[in-house]
Amino acid sequence: MIPFATPSIGKEETDAVIAVLNSKWLTMGKKVFEFEEMLAKFTGAKHVITVNSCTAALHLSLLAYGIGKGDEVITTPYTFAATGNSIIHAGATPVFVDVGRDFNINPENIEDAITPRTKAIIPVDFAGQPCDYSSIIGLADEYDLVVIEDAAHSLGAEHCHMKIGSVANATCFSFYATKCITTGEGGAIATDDDKIAETIRKLRLHGLSSDAWKRYSGVGKWYYEIEEIGWKYNMTDINAAIGIEQLKKEERFYQRRVDIAEHYTKGLQGCKCGLPTENPNTSSAWHLYPILVNNRNDVINQLAQLEIGTSVHFIPLHHHPAYQRLGYSESDFPVATSLYEHEISLPIYPGMTDEQVQMVITALREILA
Ligand SMILES: *Cc1c(COP(=O)(O)O)cnc(C)c1O
Repeated sequence: MIPFATPSIGKEETDAVIAVLNSKWLTMGKKVFEFEEMLAKFTGAKHVITVNSCTAALHLSLLAYGIGKGDEVITTPYTFAATGNSIIHAGATPVFVDVGRDFNINPENIEDAITPRTKAIIPVDFAGQPCDYSSIIGLADEYDLVVIEDAAHSLGAEHCHMKIGSVANATCFSFYATKCITTGEGGAIATDDDKIAETIRKLRLHGLSSDAWKRYSGVGKWYYEIEEIGWKYNMTDINAAIGIEQLKKEERFYQRRVDIAEHYTKGLQGCKCGLPTENPNTSSAWHLYPILVNNRNDVINQLAQLEIGTSVHFIPLHHHPAYQRLGYSESDFPVATSLYEHEISLPIYPGMTDEQVQMVITALREILA
């Protein structure tokens, strides 16, 4: 049995969790701040603020940039619920544009979707492959838009030799169980903007100003003020302790995924399927290995019979009833729909053995012959 995805958790993570429990300081303590510092160093961003999911990261990023009612946010339909939902949570309207053959938002479609109400673009680095930020940031500068990157798949990836996290105005990461590194559930925002970082820090914890006591000398450290109506989105020390150990292993995890991707690409040469490639001037985090086949469901079922787990990423947002009630229909984004109809995500994670990778290749070569 080869599962589709499984996290790589070792003794380091379990020991770190036990140490936090024994310390009796369970949340918003030094483990959270240590994880944030490590992430800032890793991504090259000036500030990293952790939260309890990437969905929360996207929501707070939009709010921090003042995006809400009456505003439009351009994004891709080829994504998970989180991307579209967070725009709606902020009170804004998602405006989808179709993707290119690399699954990522097609910059050529963005300009036509820009209106006087457009405030931001949320590109999604599908499978860990960075979007075309040279074009996207160029357009954003021209039209005075903010770029909030959904980097749920792309921790560790690079665009023009810059680590993801130091490319867009704000970058949102996910540490969900199956992502490049995990904290169980968790997320983070990376940004160089001092003001945005300060606002996100405040909004993640009820809008409290924790240093209000400084302004009132003689008042104890128990004093706080609710400066905004915020959210309860902070990370716990238990989660952060897992994240610290995972981030220490990131280089190894990343190298292993690159190895597996290279094996797949070599082993599936000449098969009747489309294989993923890296765009120029980027390196992918290889969170997913998406292939394109005819008779998608049939291939998935045959692999399942051989106990090989796969998945489909994604059912595009315009195919879902909640988004159709906003006016979208299945025929709106033909490239996204066609990719969806043919896509299979193969297992790719550090715990896979060479033998398992070869079993997937052998099975696919037979099925696709
Ligand atoms: C997983 C995922 C998210 C959401 O991450 P959570 O941490 O679960 O909120 C957002 N965008 C994409 C593209 C994802 O795959």
